[in-house]
Amino acid sequence: MGYLFRNLSLLEPEVGVLQPGLELRVEADKIVEVGKSLAPGSADVVDCGGRVVMPGLIDSHVHVMLSEVNIRSLESVPLTLGTARAAKNMRGMIDRGFTTVRDTGGADWGLKQAVDEGSIPGPRLFIAGQAIGPTGGHSDPRRRTDIFGAKCHCCNAMAFSMNVSDGEREVRKAAREQMRQGADQVKIMMSGGVASPYDPLDSLQFSDAEIAAAVEEAHAFGRYVCAHAYTPKAITRAAHAGVRTIEHGNLIDAASAKLMAEKGMFLIANLVAYYAMKERAAEFGMNADMLEKNDLVIDGALRSLEICHQAGVPVAYGSDLLGQLQVDQSREFLLRREVLSNLDIIRSATTIGAQVTRTEGKLGTLKPGAFADLLVLDSNPLDDLAVFQDQGAHMAAIMKGGKFHTCRLG
Ligand SMILES: [Zn+2]
Repeated sequence: MGYLFRNLSLLEPEVGVLQPGLELRVEADKIVEVGKSLAPGSADVVDCGGRVVMPGLIDSHVHVMLSEVNIRSLESVPLTLGTARAAKNMRGMIDRGFTTVRDTGGADWGLKQAVDEGSIPGPRLFIAGQAIGPTGGHSDPRRRTDIFGAKCHCCNAMAFSMNVSDGEREVRKAAREQMRQGADQVKIMMSGGVASPYDPLDSLQFSDAEIAAAVEEAHAFGRYVCAHAYTPKAITRAAHAGVRTIEHGNLIDAASAKLMAEKGMFLIANLVAYYAMKERAAEFGMNADMLEKNDLVIDGALRSLEICHQAGVPVAYGSDLLGQLQVDQSREFLLRREVLSNLDIIRSATTIGAQVTRTEGKLGTLKPGAFADLLVLDSNPLDDLAVFQDQGAHMAAIMKGGKFHTCRLG
């Protein structure tokens, strides 16, 4: 019963150096023992051939249901097709070694259950349900000629992923509804965004009372609010209102970063989305206005990492890639090398991801008691993050919850 992993170097991100000579024993879905010369008992012995073993990766900002770069096209994607594409997206993620992803708008409890019960292969999902924003904000993709309210939420992948609510009462109800539907975190829009048609990037979305309603309800339910925000003003408002995580935050400055550190907040950065959109979004139908907004935030992306590093704000690994660009998910590792050490980047996708999802000791680590979510790598990522590239080609094995997703070891 179970597995004994031998002949390996352990990379425990919290420790930060390779530990050769250690062995890991897995029973059911957990790590039960870490030590030297463990007795196999009835466990199957897995010889790792001297490779590096580390915890599975965590991507703290994805959208598995947003299968089009041009979000508008999702209005003609029925939920059946959207679900099939989400299954393909999730398969790609776990193939790349991401055993956990945090979805910030679109994925619902049905997808989560489908993965948990083994109906589709994929990473563990932390879901937000619909992303909630005000009329005319980042959750509102309607054309100006669409003057009627938001349409029903059951017919297409676009409406399914987003919620337009105005006024404290509606926001409160929307937040409660997401949590009734199993949300792990409540996502709200607090500034303009790239992939929405008319909201300027520096627009401030939701009133203080609307934000407070979402935060109050999330806390009452034992959840937290994550906020889409780019500018120092939007980040500062979020911090004062009790929001826990800032998504994107490209235009952050020293003062707003200091405030985030004081409040114990996290930044989830996702540089790769902006680089991928700049290079390839036009060919998939993203319009010029949106690409212009992309140019406003791309320059701030690397600087935001440096500012947070200096202020002591933990930054998690995010990708936020839409549709056809999702294959670039692991490129975020390479982009961050400009300003951060390999170890810091690895921690963003393990240790810090676990803090963001409130799963310390369970995910992002291979200590006894943690889930057996692990990667067996052909080379040491502390030396070269390229081992995470090429769609998982350099991963000799990927295990999630004690079960092999892939394994090419003897
Ligand atoms: Zn997003």
